[in-house]
Amino acid sequence: MGLLTQGTPLSWEDTKKWADHVRKHGIKQFVAQYKKLMSRKKDVLYWGDEIEYQLIKFDHINRKVYVALKAQDVLRRLKENSEKNSNTPETTSWHPEYASYQVEGTPGKPYGGLMAHFNTVEANMSQRRKEIQDQLEEDEAPLSLTVFPRLGCGTFTWPIAKANPVNGISRSLFFPDEAINQGHVRFKTVTRNCRVRRTEKILINIPIYKDINTQSPFIEDFSILGDDGTSAAAAKPDHIYMDCMGFGMGNCCLQVTFQASCLDEAKVLYDQLAVMCPIMLALSASSPVYRGYLSDNDTRWPVISGACDDRTKEERGVEPLKENQYRIAKSRYDSIDSFISTLGEQYNDIHLTFNQEIFEELIAQGVDDLLARHIAHIFIRDPISLFVEHLDEDDENDTDHFENIQSTNWQTMRFKPPPPNSNIGWRVEFRPMEAQLTDFESAAFSVFILLLTRVILSYQLNFLIPISKVDENMKTAYKRDAVISDKFFFRKNILTEYCKNTLNGFGITDTNQEYELMTINEIFHGKEDFPGLLPLIDSYIDSIDIDVDTKCTVTQYVRLISLRASGHLQTTAKWIRNFVLNHPEYKQDSVVSDSINYDLLCQMTQISRGELYDPKHLFPHVSKSSNMIPEAVCQAEAFLDQKFSCGQC
Ligand code: ADP
Ligand code: MG
Ligand code: MG
Ligand code: MG
Ligand code: MG
Ligand code: MG
Repeated sequence: MGLLTQGTPLSWEDTKKWADHVRKHGIKQFVAQYKKLMSRKKDVLYWGDEIEYQLIKFDHINRKVYVALKAQDVLRRLKENSEKNSNTPETTSWHPEYASYQVEGTPGKPYGGLMAHFNTVEANMSQRRKEIQDQLEEDEAPLSLTVFPRLGCGTFTWPIAKANPVNGISRSLFFPDEAINQGHVRFKTVTRNCRVRRTEKILINIPIYKDINTQSPFIEDFSILGDDGTSAAAAKPDHIYMDCMGFGMGNCCLQVTFQASCLDEAKVLYDQLAVMCPIMLALSASSPVYRGYLSDNDTRWPVISGACDDRTKEERGVEPLKENQYRIAKSRYDSIDSFISTLGEQYNDIHLTFNQEIFEELIAQGVDDLLARHIAHIFIRDPISLFVEHLDEDDENDTDHFENIQSTNWQTMRFKPPPPNSNIGWRVEFRPMEAQLTDFESAAFSVFILLLTRVILSYQLNFLIPISKVDENMKTAYKRDAVISDKFFFRKNILTEYCKNTLNGFGITDTNQEYELMTINEIFHGKEDFPGLLPLIDSYIDSIDIDVDTKCTVTQYVRLISLRASGHLQTTAKWIRNFVLNHPEYKQDSVVSDSINYDLLCQMTQISRGELYDPKHLFPHVSKSSNMIPEAVCQAEAFLDQKFSCGQC
């Protein structure tokens, strides 16, 4: 969850008083690093994934399953173990997450740029899963599960905790304070400040999946949970209502970060990958159930977006502007609002709200127009947590104020400037994907995105479409079965002049209209006049030096993506949905009961351990993946480190 400063949190009223101070110094800090590092060039490719896990506890006698509120303890022991083994190179690294049933694991150090690293990704993920499992009891498991299906239903935590709608941090009817990570005061602070800033409880309404016996209209009685009428008024008929940050921040996802060779390359990757966000959200869909009900959505995005929406009524346009400065179109957790590469500029067709004063300051300091707009846009937000101990910082060498705003703009893509006094370069983070159940799937999605970046850069592909169309695609991507039933705006002519000369045999027609609606199958496999992403990736793999083992590994990953894109294999969302619909205890009423949830998570645990698979969802694969990078690869890497350069620098 980005920056995790510890200390004494300020109240919301005090945080608000310091907001301009944080923004002013945040910008100074950004400018100081920008000036030092804007010309930094020839960084080699490093990259890494982040996987979030939920700690799950099974009660096999009563066929009930809980989220286990023990992340703080598990995390401490995971970190201790990493330190104990510090004489060997660190393979895993552990980070706290929002909920006290969640942990986040990353590789101990990033993967390098050579294809041979693909052989270590899955093994590293399996190692992470094993390290968590080693800290758990026999009736517990770590699941890379996007949404716990009965999150917020009665007694869903172990130990059992009760929500407190009157005095609880979030005022939720469903989500107890104990489920918020207590180890870092920041999580509680962000929860409180988000609600107080907004001046009312968080509000999320997700359409329910209407089955033949679903109550119609579907309206719940919240008075038994202590509702004072607020929730009853906020909940829409035929929707699953949720009321706090935990419903979104308590979900898990899969993120991938890449180091670019220079600032310009980072901008190109940021823009090109932004177009892929809705597509990959739909393809990685794995969350059809919320608060015990089957929904009509397959992905978490609208839930987490609503869960982190701290905008006031004025900012949301419900009331006329008085106290606040801007109307703001989106939650601070949402898709990006502007492209930042030179090529991207002409596709910025949505109104961008930005802080004029900050924009002018950035321009005065020599930051280019597009990047200045992006930074001035994310800086329309207030800091939502601030610590007494961190008010004054050294703007030349610290970036805490910058990171405070940057890391609470939870967008589909994140543009990451190099941290001060490090040897890390300009990076880009790809953030939309849902958590995948198995390490095989997580590796496949991560490696696929990495390959896509290589193909984009090597062939100088252009995926850009008006950013308003990317937003429309996001809305399509949430929907049930979007991956096989819906169409997405995609650029028709993705091959630039450069690749037309490089790649013979890919048919191209010039068209006036730059984009059209395509199915995900067409986007990935191509059609008449459109080459398709996977054939381009195949052609790239054929063109590079790659050993047999690595090729085998990569081929299986690409195959999974291909079969999911064509609909021959189900997304995890579809698989979960079908599991519920076909469960003997399911009453065609949209309800995912405790025992259905128990059976579902038992199977998911077996699948995640590789003990079981459903041929409608996965195929048997041979994992040649190993945690050891051969010495020769390390040497080749060191050589590259000195020689590398890209087209941009
Ligand atoms: P955040 O939570 O801020 O998004 P994390 O530190 O949790 O970031 O994870 C970032 C990911 O980036 C990890 O997988 C890590 O291995 C990887 N990474 C670390 N250093 C680099 C680098 N120089 N270039 C690219 N990726 C990196
Ligand atoms: Mg995280
Ligand atoms: Mg992280
Ligand atoms: Mg998170
Ligand atoms: Mg982090
Ligand atoms: Mg991240």
